[in-house]
Amino acid sequence: MAESNVLIVGAGPVGLAAAIELGRQGTPVRIVDSSESRTGLSKAVGINVQSLELLEPSGVTERLLAAGIRIRRANLWLDGRPLVSLDLSLVRHRFNFLLALSQSETERILAEALGDLGIDVERRTTLVGLEEAGGGIRARMTLPDGSETQHVAGTLLGADGARSTVRKALDIDFVGARYENTWSLADVTLSWSHGYSDVNLFLSTAGPMLFTVPIGPDRIRAISQTDDALGLLPADSLVTKVHWQSVFHVALRQAAHYQGGNAFLAGDAAHVHSPAGGRGMNLGFWDACSFARRHADGTLAGYEAERHPIGARILAITDRMFRIASLPPGLGQMARNAAMRTVAQLPIVQRRIAPQLLGIET
Ligand SMILES: Cc1cc2nc3c(=O)[nH]c(=O)nc-3n(C[C@H](O)[C@H](O)[C@H](O)COP(=O)(O)OP(=O)(O)OC[C@H]3O[C@@H](n4cnc5c(N)ncnc54)[C@H](O)[C@@H]3O)c2cc1C
Repeated sequence: MAESNVLIVGAGPVGLAAAIELGRQGTPVRIVDSSESRTGLSKAVGINVQSLELLEPSGVTERLLAAGIRIRRANLWLDGRPLVSLDLSLVRHRFNFLLALSQSETERILAEALGDLGIDVERRTTLVGLEEAGGGIRARMTLPDGSETQHVAGTLLGADGARSTVRKALDIDFVGARYENTWSLADVTLSWSHGYSDVNLFLSTAGPMLFTVPIGPDRIRAISQTDDALGLLPADSLVTKVHWQSVFHVALRQAAHYQGGNAFLAGDAAHVHSPAGGRGMNLGFWDACSFARRHADGTLAGYEAERHPIGARILAITDRMFRIASLPPGLGQMARNAAMRTVAQLPIVQRRIAPQLLGIET
C-alpha cells in the first residue's frame, strides 16, 4: 500500500491544474485517470482573464498565450444587423482579451507543464471506492492490468467530472436538474464575412440564437440551443469541413457539499451548468488553484465555505444568461430584443459587460 500527501482522481483540465499547483509547492502528489488518453475534443474553448492570472506563476499561461487566439471584440447581431460591438481591448487589464483554445490543446499544455515538474498522469487507473483511514483516506483503484490496488493519501481531490465517483462514494447529492432544450455545436472550417477573431451572438426575432467563437485561422465553433447549430449560420457562410458536431443536453447542478472528511470536490465533479458565458472550465481552474493554495497554508477546512457560494453565484449567472438566450419566439423574445436595442449603445454596456465577458470579478 503506497502513501502520498494528495491523490487527485481525474486528469481533465481541473485535476491537471491542481496537480501543477501542488507540485510547484513540493507537495507529493499522485494523479490518476481512468481513460487511455486525454480528450481529443475541443469542448471548452474560452479561457478567461482570471484563469490566465491563476495559471501564470506556473508558466502555463505563457504557453496558452502562445497557442491560443486573442479575442478582442464581441458582436451582437439582430436579424442580420449589428446591434452592438464590444471592444474588449478597452478593458483596463493587461489580459484585455478572451483566449480561445481547444480544450484538447489546453490539456496538452497542462500535461506538459506537469511532466516538467516530474509528475506524470497514471492512466487507465480507475478509482472504484474510498474510505476514511486514520487521519487520511484510502482509495481503491483498478490498474491497467485489471488488478486492484489501494492507496492511502492524506487528502484526496475528486476532479473526476460530472459523473464523479468520488462524489457518489461520499454520498453527496448533486442538486439541480437538466434543462429541456437540446443544444448543438459544430466546429467547422468555413468562409464567411464575419472574420476569425471576434465572438458573435446572432439573435433572431424569428427563432433561436447562435453563438460563434473562433478556434483557428479559418475555423469557428458554432453553438445554439437547437439541434442544428450549422443551419443557423449566416447565409453567406460556406462550410468546407465539419471537424466535430455534437448534440447534447445541459444541466444545472451543484454538489450539496464540496468536502467529505479528507476528500474534496473540484470542477465538474462539484458543478455543471450551461455553456452560456463559457465559465465551466474556468470555474474549475479557480477551484483547483484555491484547493492547492489552501492545502499549502493549512486552510483546507475553509475550502467549501469559499467555493460553494462562488459556484452558486456563477451557476445563477449562467442560468440567467441561458434563460435569456433560450426565450422562444413570442412576447418574451420581442421584449428581450427591444431591450437590447435600447441599451446596446449605452456606454455602461461597454463598461460593465466587457469585463464580465472576460471573467473579471468585480
Ligand atoms: C461540448 C462542450 C462544450 C463546452 N464548452 C465550454 C466553454 O466554452 N467554456 C468552459 O469553460 N467550459 C466548457 N465546457 C465544460 C468543460 O469542458 C468542463 O467544465 C471541463 O472539462 C471540466 O473539467 P474537469 O477536469 O472538471 O472534468 P473532466 O474534463 O470531465 O475530466 C474528468 C476526468 O476524470 C476522469 N475520471 C472519471 N471518473 C474517474 C474515475 N473513477 N477514476 C479515475 N478517473 C476518472 C475522466 O476520464 C476525465 O479525464 C464544455 C463542455 C462540453 C462537453
